Order: sequence, then structure tokens, then C-alpha cells
Amino acid sequence: MTRWPESVKKEARALGKSGKSHTEIGKILGVSRGTVDTWFWSRATRERKYAERVEAWKRNEVNGRMYVGVIDNCPKCGERGYVQLLWMDYVPTGTRNYYWQIFHYQGKRDDGHAQYRYCGSTTDRWEGRDIRFTSPKREEQFRKLRVPGAA
Ligand SMILES: [Zn+2]
Repeated sequence: MTRWPESVKKEARALGKSGKSHTEIGKILGVSRGTVDTWFWSRATRERKYAERVEAWKRNEVNGRMYVGVIDNCPKCGERGYVQLLWMDYVPTGTRNYYWQIFHYQGKRDDGHAQYRYCGSTTDRWEGRDIRFTSPKREEQFRKLRVPGAA
């Protein structure tokens, strides 16, 4: 999946305000209709879509997860973040899909609990570049997974 620059998304939103349909916006900008749709999702919608996907995982697939390490520049927002890899095995076909998740530290609450912000799901097809692995052993475990497209 191509990551589109913010300028293109901004243009899409401007076109949306001027009354163009998502299909028309897609044609003008050379972007698929499905991608344009996601740019108009509210925060609530994005969170709902994510929750739906998590539910789908729980229903159909066996999941694994691994905390991988730290990146200084989140591919989505540029902030320092913590990287976690999730995977799901779709049992009927034996296929496995991987999902990157990046979380940003938000400081401590009054009661001392650390808070993290999940930075969206557009990093699904990020290749995991520039991760500082939490340990050499973890890097070895990560390499053993042979995540498709991983840097
Ligand atoms: Zn981020």
C-alpha cells in the first residue's frame, strides 16, 4: 500500500468539501476509491474498524504477538515509538499475515500508570525499517519469522 503524502490527503478533503464524490476524488488524484474512503473516516470510525478487525482475529485465527523494539521516526507521525508485531494464522488456508503496531508514550497518569497512544493501522505494510531491537535475541526471533517485506 502506498503511503500518500499529507498534501494529497488535504487536497482530497478540499475536493470533498467542494462536493466531489469519493469516486470523483479518486479519479482526479489517481487514488483508489477505497483509499479515499479511509481519508474521510473519523477517528471514531478508524477505531471501530480496528476493533472489528481484532474481533475477526479472535473469531477465526490464531494470533501471536511480539514486542520488537523502538523506532525514532514513526512512519506515520515521525515520533519516537514502540513497535509491536502481530500475526494471524488463517487456519483454513494455512496463510499468515503480519501487522505492525506502533505506540507512542504519552507520559504517566496521576496514578503512575504509563499511557501509550496507538498510532493507527496504516503501518500494516510498513517494512519495519530502522527498528532498534530490544535485544539481539529478540532480533533473532524476529528474523526467524521471515516477515514478508521486512527490512
Ligand atoms: Zn506514530
